[in-house]
Amino acid sequence: MAITVKRVSRHVEQTSYVKATLQGMASTLKQMFEPKVTIQYPEQRWELSPRWRGTHRMLTKEDGKARCVACGLCPSVCPSNCIKLVPGEDENGNRYPLVFEIDEFRCIFCGYCQEVCPEDAIHVGQHYENSEYSREGHVYDLERLMAQTHPVSTLWDATDPRGE
Ligand code: SF4
Ligand code: SF4
Repeated sequence: MAITVKRVSRHVEQTSYVKATLQGMASTLKQMFEPKVTIQYPEQRWELSPRWRGTHRMLTKEDGKARCVACGLCPSVCPSNCIKLVPGEDENGNRYPLVFEIDEFRCIFCGYCQEVCPEDAIHVGQHYENSEYSREGHVYDLERLMAQTHPVSTLWDATDPRGE
């Protein structure tokens, strides 16, 4: 069967880019007079929601030691398997973390560790500036977790689901 070519003729307003170009330029011009939504980071900072879940913090007791009692709940519940805990026990039988590390690179900031902690020890925090030059740099040990000073996150409240 012979192949034929069908010629379709369209009006110039259907094929010209001029109209679309002018519409695009008008849209750009309009945006120039709209309120700006960008900020000049890092001079200007984004105000975080109290529910923002970012870099972890380990809270401390009055004696400066970590509140963690090495119960093992947070590594058990962590869906990313990014918490390393090696428990220790002192001469009085009190448990404490010999090793406590969180890989912030693997963490998905779900906040489960904070939710399950019976000692109010580990928290996700209102902080996001934790860039590093290596993957290892994202592993926060106990000392580093205790040295964080940013505000901790407010967890979702079932009685106030929209945070109002
Ligand atoms: S926030 Fe979630 S993923 Fe991150 S360490 Fe805690 S439990 Fe694991
Ligand atoms: S849940 Fe709390 S007390 Fe238990 S191991 Fe984790 S940080 Fe420590």
